[in-house]
Amino acid sequence: MQLVINSLSKTYPNGVRALKNVSFVCHKGMFGLLGPNGAGKSTLMRTIATLQDADQGTISLDGLDVLKEKTALRRLLGYLPQEFGVYPRTTAEEMLDHIARLKGVNDAAKRRDLVATLLEHVNLTRDKKKRLGGFSGGMKQRFGIAQALIGEPKLIIVDEPTAGLDPAERNRFYNLLSRIGENTIVILSTHIVEDVSTLCSQFAIICDGEVMYLGEPDAAVMELTGKIYTKLIGRESLARYKQQHRVLSTHLKSGVLYIRIFSETAPGDGFIPGQASLEDVYFKAIGEQVDVAGINS
Ligand code: ADP
Repeated sequence: MQLVINSLSKTYPNGVRALKNVSFVCHKGMFGLLGPNGAGKSTLMRTIATLQDADQGTISLDGLDVLKEKTALRRLLGYLPQEFGVYPRTTAEEMLDHIARLKGVNDAAKRRDLVATLLEHVNLTRDKKKRLGGFSGGMKQRFGIAQALIGEPKLIIVDEPTAGLDPAERNRFYNLLSRIGENTIVILSTHIVEDVSTLCSQFAIICDGEVMYLGEPDAAVMELTGKIYTKLIGRESLARYKQQHRVLSTHLKSGVLYIRIFSETAPGDGFIPGQASLEDVYFKAIGEQVDVAGINS
C-alpha cells in the first residue's frame, strides 16, 4: 500500500505558488505533514483528496492515477477537512446513518451495525443521541473520524485535527488516530510538532510550498543530537546572538530569555548542550528564527 506524490506544483490565479515540485511517498501508517500556516498543507491535502487540481505532477495510490481517476479515488478515501461543518440539530447517530447511506450502504440493518461500530470505535456511543451542535471540539473531531471511516478507506486525510483541542481531548484523538494508522495510510497535516512526534513514523516538513525535510522523527532528532546548545540571555542581547549564531528558537522562562542554537561544534560563549528535539528539527528546516516568546529583536 503506497501513495506516491511526484513533482506536484500549484500556482493560484493570484500568483501564489502554493506547491513547488512536491514529491514524497507514504506507506501504511501515519505520515505527518508539518509546516507553518500558509505552507501549502491544505492545498496539498485538497489536491490528494481530488477537491482541486494541480498544474503539474502526478499522485498515485497503489497504481491508481489519483488526479485522473477521481471517482475511483474518492471510493478509497476518508477525509476530515480543516473546516468540518455539521448539521447542529442532527444527532451523531442520525448523521452517520445519513452519510453511510450516501456512501452506498443501502441495507438498513448493515447500516445500523456499521454506525454502532463506528460510534464505539471513536468512543461516542454514550453521546449518540446528542445533537452535533452541542458537541465539544474533541467530540466533533472524533465524529469527523467516524464519518471518514465509512467505506473502509485505504487512505485517510486529516487536516489540522488537533487545533483547538484541550490536552485530554487531544490525547483521546491521538489514540484513535494511531489505531487507525495500523491498517491504512493516514496523512496528518499539522503545524503542531508534538502531533508528529507522538504519532507519525514518517514525516515531511513543508514551508513556502517546498518540502524542506523528509524522514523519520527519531532519525531526524538523532541528526541534531550533540548540535543543539542553549543559554539564558538578556533580552537586549538577542540581536547580537542572532548575528553570531544560528538561533533556532527563543522562549521566555521566568522573565529571562532562553535561546536554542544549532552548532556543529561547541560554541563556547556560555552555551550549554541541550537535548535535541523534533521542534529543533522543524525550526532548522524552515530556516527561520521563530520567536516563540513573541519577542522581536
Ligand atoms: P496551509 O494549509 O499550510 O496553511 P494553504 O495551502 O492553505 O497553506 O495555503 C498556501 C498558500 O496559498 C498561502 O499563501 C495561501 O494564502 C494561498 N492560498 C490558499 N488557497 C488559495 C486560493 N484559493 N486562492 C489563492 N491563494 C490561496
